[in-house]
Amino acid sequence: MNSALQCLSHLLTFHPLNEKFQAECESAESESMIDAWFEFQREMWSNKRQQMVVPRNLLQRFQELCETNDLYFENFEQNDVHEFLVLFLDLMHRGITRPVSFRISSKETNDVAIKAYDTWKRFYETDYSYIVHNFHSQKITLTSCPNCSYYTSNHEPEQVLTIEIPRGAHTIEKCLEYHTRKHILDKENLWTCDKCHKKSQAIQRTMLWKTPDILIIMLKRYSGRRKISRHIAFDETLDIKDYTVNYAFAGCNPSTAYALQAVSVQDGSLGGGHYYAYCKNNLDKQWRCYNDTNVTITPIEKVLQCSGYVFFYKRV
Ligand SMILES: [Zn+2]
Repeated sequence: MNSALQCLSHLLTFHPLNEKFQAECESAESESMIDAWFEFQREMWSNKRQQMVVPRNLLQRFQELCETNDLYFENFEQNDVHEFLVLFLDLMHRGITRPVSFRISSKETNDVAIKAYDTWKRFYETDYSYIVHNFHSQKITLTSCPNCSYYTSNHEPEQVLTIEIPRGAHTIEKCLEYHTRKHILDKENLWTCDKCHKKSQAIQRTMLWKTPDILIIMLKRYSGRRKISRHIAFDETLDIKDYTVNYAFAGCNPSTAYALQAVSVQDGSLGGGHYYAYCKNNLDKQWRCYNDTNVTITPIEKVLQCSGYVFFYKRV
């Protein structure tokens, strides 16, 4: 899972000189995941000659914590990068959670905003962390009645935005457009409206409500055992404005513009694939390809030609 670790290690969120990250690591439980991650990052970024750093201790800690927390992770060769990422971030989160008090402006009158806020509060009031702060987004699903103006909203947190590749889509924007499209629920799934009480095929749409500072997007390249390996175009910048509900929550309206920081690529098939990563170094601004023990400086034009699987964007 070196490809996922390479991508994460290039985020400023986890740079060993980042004071917020340092503070989190200092207050973390001993023998925690973030503790081992900090050690790894320190070794990695003090390594002037860019020699290979083997994450042996880090992965050992990961396996130990999977066992003590009853989390199942088969082995490092066979597993999907997405599964590893979610587990790894979750284990880091567990070692540094703390209660936090959320306050909503008393001027807030929008029902959807209040509900979104209440859901976020319910999820994280006793379980907040640096990981939640940086990585978690909140999606909003609106279900509306085709007969009257009634609608309901549902708000779920999300750590990795997983999106389908519909037929004919050749850009990440088209995939996002499809993911956030309005669609009519099927006939087997009739919905009863709370206002007009009619049974109908409701209209549903899922978008992003609260956007994260680090946006991880995974393309669903697998449908069953079949892999969609075609190139999906992406850029060094991504604006997600059209896929979000542009509501200024509690008076704060963060930027929807993102810059690409890393891409994980998978060659081959599920279970037998080979992963590598392209990452941007924040110091020299160069892109590099990390493939097993090989590290090669790579022009951005070449990076943009890859069939990316997981994309790491940071808010700008
Ligand atoms: Zn209705």
